[in-house]
Amino acid sequence: MEFGTLKNYIDGEWVESQSSELLDVTNPATGEVIAKVPLSTAEEVNQAVAAAKAAFWEWRETPAVIRARYMFRLKARMEECFEDLARIVVKEHGKIIDEARGEVRRAIENVDMAAGIPSLMMGYNAEDIAEGIDEEAILQPIGVFFCVAPFNFPAMVPSWFLPTAVACGNTYIVKPSEQCPISQNFMFELLDDLDFPPGVVNLVNGAKGVVDVLLSHPDVAGVSFVGSTPVGKYIYATAAAHGKRAQCQAGAKNCLVVMPDADLDRTVAALLTSAFGTAGQRCLAGALVVAVGDIYEPLKAKLVEAAAAIKVGNGLDEGVQMGPVVSLKAKQRILGYIDKGIEQGAELLLDGRNVVVEGHPNGYFVGPTIFDKVTPDMVIAREEIFGPVLGILQVGGFDEALDIIRGLPFGNAASIFTASGKWAREFKYRVPAGNIGINLGIAAPIATFPFGGKGDSFFGDLHGQGMDGVNFFTDRKVVITRWF
Ligand code: NAD
Repeated sequence: MEFGTLKNYIDGEWVESQSSELLDVTNPATGEVIAKVPLSTAEEVNQAVAAAKAAFWEWRETPAVIRARYMFRLKARMEECFEDLARIVVKEHGKIIDEARGEVRRAIENVDMAAGIPSLMMGYNAEDIAEGIDEEAILQPIGVFFCVAPFNFPAMVPSWFLPTAVACGNTYIVKPSEQCPISQNFMFELLDDLDFPPGVVNLVNGAKGVVDVLLSHPDVAGVSFVGSTPVGKYIYATAAAHGKRAQCQAGAKNCLVVMPDADLDRTVAALLTSAFGTAGQRCLAGALVVAVGDIYEPLKAKLVEAAAAIKVGNGLDEGVQMGPVVSLKAKQRILGYIDKGIEQGAELLLDGRNVVVEGHPNGYFVGPTIFDKVTPDMVIAREEIFGPVLGILQVGGFDEALDIIRGLPFGNAASIFTASGKWAREFKYRVPAGNIGINLGIAAPIATFPFGGKGDSFFGDLHGQGMDGVNFFTDRKVVITRWF
């Protein structure tokens, strides 16, 4: 087992979990067990919270410029270990190495953002709000926060939160995905090198049991969740019931609308990356192509031809363009959706079910799959499949395309491909999604912008990243002053 049994990181120390429950972590390209992850006990969670609580006051009194220096050093360590981290992401998740590199780059950009905290955390003030009276708003850290992370960006997602939270003066607990926990184990080795005061950053492995203890713990101030919609709803409601701040980024079903005047070749390239990048396991992945008018036939032909040529394999191998899905369970779920699509009358244009990857008989591979004649009421058009399965719908005009997007419960992302400024403007104005792409298939906000999301794709008000992140991790205290 390459990575052994993973430990927790509590109060500045690596500690072995006492839990008797251990899960296997597999390399999805080979099916091999590469680590074991403990489902930590309630006692271990309580220890992490106690450590984070004890560390809070001294850390919040540490000047922001000094807290920022930890971020500069974290960035430097991440740059030094960039390739090692990217390779771990491939081994535990399955995505191809270039995608893993992109993920690590995005993680570092969030550290860059947090390094700017001395200016980002400045408050604001006004003189003479009444005669001789001035008013100021101060941004203050709050206490202990934690994140609950999904499997699909194991290195990046906790970086949306931990750097900003800690730079703001809070203390932190990461609960990684139990499916892909190794990247965070590695990240905490880097954090350990920086000699944070004990208790400022903590890592507790586990699943629902760990999350539930944190959600109801009286010494925890808030949670950042990223994962599926049912769990996001549960975490939002439970956190609120316990008086905690919550930002919950959830599932998706993203539409890619192609207008008749779109640049066909560039659009096809963007659609392919959107639908089949990371084997469709991205919350920003395009799941439905909505072809408007007579672009439908040529678009369909080019799309199928190009998707059929995608090379599927082990993400670490040269020339591979798409890796496996994360687990056997995920593969079975995706195959179940393909069966459902056929059963409900969609036409299977490209069938990825029997893809064979030489030398990897035990990998969880599903090839690019494309359905035509999808209708908005079909299960494959309504539910998040989270795999390399793309549906094509044909509509007569822009308003019909808009109706399809509006009819979905999710509102994570939507893209339009067009040469018309008017349609692009209408799209960004009217579409109820939080991340809009115009002539690009993955509308991923950089670290200085909030990660959008509406409807069943986001529960909360302040989003992750950008100034929303700073505001989520701070409270505004108002001071009104008069001197006699
Ligand atoms: P998941 O909901 O199964 O798990 C996410 C996290 O929640 C894990 O850490 C898991 O341990 C924990 N968890 C699972 N069930 C729980 C429960 N009942 N109570 C408490 N905690 C629980 O999601 P996943 O399969 O790891 O990730 C894929 C999902 O994440 C997809 O739906 C995808 O769209 C979504 N996602 C959303 C965004 C976004 O920004 N909106 C980004 C990435 C992924």
